[in-house]
Amino acid sequence: MILEIETGRENPVLRKKSEPVREITKKTAKLIRDMEETMILFKGVGLAAPQIGVNERIILITIDGKKILAMINPDITDVSEDTAVAEEGCLSLPGEWGKIRRPKEVTVEFMTPKGNKTVMKFKDFEAREIQHEVDHLDGILFTDYVQENDVTLDDISGQLEAERI
Ligand SMILES: [Zn+2]
Repeated sequence: MILEIETGRENPVLRKKSEPVREITKKTAKLIRDMEETMILFKGVGLAAPQIGVNERIILITIDGKKILAMINPDITDVSEDTAVAEEGCLSLPGEWGKIRRPKEVTVEFMTPKGNKTVMKFKDFEAREIQHEVDHLDGILFTDYVQENDVTLDDISGQLEAERI
């Protein structure tokens, strides 16, 4: 089922700290499926549950350029000292783009939809996606990091449409 994307910098559901998932139920599995369908339709490369109006700690990211990975209760346990700057956009903030500095590598602990506890390391764009999505779970939007002047309403960035997370 395709869900509606919550938008707006002051949207309360996007600003609320999301609750951990205590038990993975059929409802959780359905929510993840719906998130996947919605993310694909809107050509996002990542999605967090609050973006479809659910304040639960679930995120999706795209890895290896195509595979969607669902993470339940993701916890970034380590970040690299090395940082990088890249432009970010967000399905919840249509038309806004900003350059953000973030750690290049992260270690994440999470649960898979099957309930397996997993630890994985990510770098570069994938590490950025995870940090962006985990921020959503804490009510943080990428625009919080940039100066007002650095956020652009960017119509020329057609190629960036595919990189909204
Ligand atoms: Zn986002």
